[in-house]
Amino acid sequence: MARINDHYLKLKAGYLFPEIGRRVTEFTKANPQAKVIRLGIGDVTRPLAPAVIQAFHQAIDDLGTTENFAGYGPEQGYEWLSQVIIDKSYKPLGVELTTNEIFISDGSKCDCANILDIFALDNVVAIGDPVYPVYNDTNVMVGRTGEADEKGYYKGIVYMPFTADNNFIPDLPKEEVDIIYLCYPNNPTGTVASKEELKKWVDYARANDAVIFFDAAYEAFITTPGIPHSIYEIEGAKECAIEFRSFSKTAGFTGVRCGLVVVPEQLTGTTASGEKYNLNRLWKRRVTTKFNGASYPVQRAAAAVYSDEGWQQTRDIIAYYMKNARIIREGLQAAGVECYGGVDAPYIWLKTPKGMNSWEFFDKLLNECHVVGTPGSGFGPSGEGYFRLSAFGERSNVETAVQRIRNTWGK
Ligand SMILES: *Cc1c(COP(=O)(O)O)cnc(C)c1O
Repeated sequence: MARINDHYLKLKAGYLFPEIGRRVTEFTKANPQAKVIRLGIGDVTRPLAPAVIQAFHQAIDDLGTTENFAGYGPEQGYEWLSQVIIDKSYKPLGVELTTNEIFISDGSKCDCANILDIFALDNVVAIGDPVYPVYNDTNVMVGRTGEADEKGYYKGIVYMPFTADNNFIPDLPKEEVDIIYLCYPNNPTGTVASKEELKKWVDYARANDAVIFFDAAYEAFITTPGIPHSIYEIEGAKECAIEFRSFSKTAGFTGVRCGLVVVPEQLTGTTASGEKYNLNRLWKRRVTTKFNGASYPVQRAAAAVYSDEGWQQTRDIIAYYMKNARIIREGLQAAGVECYGGVDAPYIWLKTPKGMNSWEFFDKLLNECHVVGTPGSGFGPSGEGYFRLSAFGERSNVETAVQRIRNTWGK
């Protein structure tokens, strides 16, 4: 008898995006002439940088020759990629790392899920609310939680509300926690944390022997000087934090697939018998057993992001999205809508006007402006009364959407 993993049955059906799709389809059927603009997606839309495409092609050609053919690479990723990441992404921040501390992967979603392999089930985990749903659902899947309550909170997880009232920086948990997920710049709120605010978490983690999972998927979108791009900019973080990065949003790799995990040499966890154990060693054991490396052409393409042309071209694409973000943010503000984010992240998190709930606002925006966004309540109970717009769209669509919103609500 093959028993299933019953923990999967605790998961609530993926409701958010199917429900958005259902309402949009219903609207377009009733209003076939309406030109609907989608600002709900969390996917990029601009093509890859030319230098990246060129390196990708070259790597394919390498595979077609005996001299340059590449078979299995190192499970942890090629040194030439890890080294250029250190040189271009970490050294300028004053963060010293070795290639042994970098693990190249096929994307950050898998990494955020897989990391749970090396931690015991009885750890108490703290997660933001609203949140990137992967953190929550993967903990349910491994069996760390009980059932969800009517709010959607799973028993056993400590939720940290993120709202305008706490400036989107949650308070330190009152109960003792062992693992803390932090995502800055944040998805879905688009907000960031200062060094002082992150230091509070690093100090907590060090004092409690906890580990921070720091998701920096949007670090490349930071424009405000002084906002940390890496948790390791905070003193002591190498003793308590694992960092996740991705080429997905940074360089348009959502379809190409490449990410990385940083597990510092100093970082330890505790064994059942109470001894300290090196987490880098444990993660390496996991990676070498369960993974055979990101593909060679993908790693070549990722390395090209750091070439002089690749870097400039990639920065230009990010600037394009961030100009979209500014257009959305300023347009909403001009229409009298309270909003957050959109300065250091490609998401604008707006407070729904007149006390509407997130889905009421979704319907209003769709019906009156023919614009689709994402209801904040879909990211967790504390997202109720908020709404996410993404800056990943095409410029003229973004401008039209903002114009419609201003015409409908401005003055
Ligand atoms: C998009 C995103 C990622 C990246 O996922 P990939 O699997 O690398 O594409 C990670 N974390 C957050 C919060 C994201 O929004």
